[in-house]
Amino acid sequence: MTTETMDRPGTVAAVVSRISTEGEDARLLRLELPEAAAFSWRPGQFVPVTLPGSELAPRHYSIANPPQDAGAVEFLFERRGPLAEALFRLSGGESVELGAPVGKWTFRDEDRHAVLVSSGTGVAPLRAMVRYALEKGLPNKLDLFYSDRTPGRLLFRRELEEAAERGVGVHLSVTEPEGLWEEGQFWDGPRGPVTVERIREAVGELSGVAVYMCGGGKLIDALRPGLKAAGVQDDAFRVEKWGDY
Ligand SMILES: Cc1cc2nc3c(=O)[nH]c(=O)nc-3n(C[C@H](O)[C@H](O)[C@H](O)COP(=O)(O)OP(=O)(O)OC[C@H]3O[C@@H](n4cnc5c(N)ncnc54)[C@H](O)[C@@H]3O)c2cc1C
Repeated sequence: MTTETMDRPGTVAAVVSRISTEGEDARLLRLELPEAAAFSWRPGQFVPVTLPGSELAPRHYSIANPPQDAGAVEFLFERRGPLAEALFRLSGGESVELGAPVGKWTFRDEDRHAVLVSSGTGVAPLRAMVRYALEKGLPNKLDLFYSDRTPGRLLFRRELEEAAERGVGVHLSVTEPEGLWEEGQFWDGPRGPVTVERIREAVGELSGVAVYMCGGGKLIDALRPGLKAAGVQDDAFRVEKWGDY
């Protein structure tokens, strides 16, 4: 993995080419990489992001698109603190400084049955993994469990519906189901966070699956002992904790 030296050694200047709203509160930024940049990544990796000219400390963002989508990277984020707030103010055309992709938490082709678990923006790298596997035509079985607060906040809904049509098990749930799912249509799907019971019910035997979990530590810590008790092997946990929330 290498990056061409641009403004600072080991970094590239990428240009914001598209900004879209995901769910109710999140943004998806697409950044074009310089043509000459040798910038490659594995699904699951993240990059340090800096806003040139700002005093704000860099933050890590997971690459939300698959490596087959070479030439541009996508990041998904919500308003959280100062850097995320500044990223929200971008309007397109700005330059953003990216470090080289890093992280060992990456999708392994040999995981023939992968259970992917997240809540909130933790779904970003899982989206990269799902798209990677589909675009590569991998025979792997994938089951994605993703919960968010309200139906309207669910991220990548349309894409996940398409993935479901292509054979991915997509299991969505919301913890505050009162909001509308579609105009005039209330949520009638599962309620509550991702639980071990829900995973067992949908997947069945867990002793042969690899479990990828990403995002805030609370959900990960809540699920791990139960998944282990339900048969997931110690060496089958693939975990990326972003923080303690
Ligand atoms: C490996 C890694 C990958 C990451 N990938 C992403 C990503 O793809 N998308 C993303 O939105 N964030 C991601 N984060 C978190 C991100 O780096 C920032 O912390 C976040 O965007 C807020 O940055 P900030 O400077 O605005 O505020 P900070 O000062 O960093 O955070 C403000 C508060 O928000 C909380 N917080 C930070 N991120 C989240 C979140 N995603 N969900 C809920 N609470 C949060 C923090 O714990 C803190 O209390 C990742 C973190 C790591 C370590």
